[in-house]
Amino acid sequence: MREKCGVFGIHNHPQAAKITYLGLYALQHRGQESAGIVVSDGSNTIIHRGLGLVDSIFTEDVLSSMPGKFAIGHNRYSTTGSTSPSNIQPLLISFFGEGIAISHNGNLINAAEIREKLESSGSIFQSTMDTEVIIHLFTKLTKSLGRKQAIAQALKRVKGAYSLLMLFNDVLIGARDPHGFRPLVLGLLDSSYLFASETCAFDLVGAKYIREVKPGEMIVIDKKGINSYTIEKPKKISQCIFEYIYFARPDSIVFGETVHKVREKMGRTLAREHPAKADLVIPVPDSGISAALGYARESGIPYGIGFTRNHYVGRTFIQPLQFIRDMEVRIKLNPIKGVLDGKRVVLVDDSIVRGTTSRKIISLLRKAGAKEIHFRISSPPIKFPCFFGIDTPVKKELIASTHTVEQIREKVGANSLGYLSLEGLLSCVKNPENFCTACFTGKYPLKVKPQTKYIFEKKGRSVAVLSPKKGTGTS
Ligand code: AMP
Repeated sequence: MREKCGVFGIHNHPQAAKITYLGLYALQHRGQESAGIVVSDGSNTIIHRGLGLVDSIFTEDVLSSMPGKFAIGHNRYSTTGSTSPSNIQPLLISFFGEGIAISHNGNLINAAEIREKLESSGSIFQSTMDTEVIIHLFTKLTKSLGRKQAIAQALKRVKGAYSLLMLFNDVLIGARDPHGFRPLVLGLLDSSYLFASETCAFDLVGAKYIREVKPGEMIVIDKKGINSYTIEKPKKISQCIFEYIYFARPDSIVFGETVHKVREKMGRTLAREHPAKADLVIPVPDSGISAALGYARESGIPYGIGFTRNHYVGRTFIQPLQFIRDMEVRIKLNPIKGVLDGKRVVLVDDSIVRGTTSRKIISLLRKAGAKEIHFRISSPPIKFPCFFGIDTPVKKELIASTHTVEQIREKVGANSLGYLSLEGLLSCVKNPENFCTACFTGKYPLKVKPQTKYIFEKKGRSVAVLSPKKGTGTS
């Protein structure tokens, strides 16, 4: 399971590429597969993209060769499968001699149909990314409608989740779909406006958080200043509740609330719903930390650290060798025997997806001497795939879609298992009616065909547009 992606952009700052680099660095948790930055000096546009983590793609030399005051960047999700270099974002095209760049977080559910129509009328696609249809729709409309209207019309035709940034030389645009699935925030650094997926990126660069981009809103920042337009009236607001559960960084303000605080409330509610007699509450690091703290505070059971996490384990270490892949959980997490020996523990994690990691973690705890393991999950059972920006496994691979809670308990090897209820979860957020909970309920805010996300890949052709290798940025 993975998430696509993180976006960042800045307008009119002398260090635009460097600030974007830092922004992407803070948003690394939203995607580790690849990253890219497009920078413009107002007339010339430079792109640099690569596979891997932000700090390995952007060296001092690369950043120094990216002058310009206007930039957007993108982090893409990590995957264990093969990665097509042509799918690294931002996407940059040249249109009547002007560079147009786009960074997108989300997933468009009608991209395959739109692409088929466009290809039938002669459009040539360079990637298999759904994002590319927005560019094609835009270029077809811009002559008759002008830039802003063309973007708005293009965005009206796509359905699904998008929090996206576009850069046209010295014009920076941020837009969010009318359902508001994915977060997007606006900030200010000195007199330069910025956009980011999460506020943690603003904290790192020293920018002030102004507000969220509203669902259905397009913000245009140009020489004259900042202007807000409505692309479409907000539809049924469907913010992704999984941003709170797992994705977003705890220090970010997402959908108007600090993520850590929401997670702590989830842990407290979980403790009330599923109490346990135990000596210690421990989190699965790092995803369970805030909820475990809430569980401990509410239950009065002491909070403890049951694992040491190795923070330096990267994909390059894990992927090449099968025997290392098999040890992945053990390499990342080492139980602290002296803490666990003979103890009854409440183990808190944010979610169970396939159940495989949880089984390995629980087995490690047993070997370290834990006497009883009461597994508590700060979300309801995930039973349905997501079509709005989280790349979930197919339904049958989601353990809760085929197993009861008792069967899952048995599979993962816990003494007891308790999931936070949907009502409990919703009681922890402001305006619960404004959230998408389809991964738990199967009630999707937009009609989706189960095969939607696969059709697009099958029909796409994988053609590299720009070289993604280090130091070979194209201008
Ligand atoms: P598993 O036991 O295999 O179901 O994995 C559960 C673990 O996956 C939990 O520790 C979650 O924090 C983590 N998790 C949940 N959602 C995602 C995601 N989208 N990408 C990566 N890990 C995730």
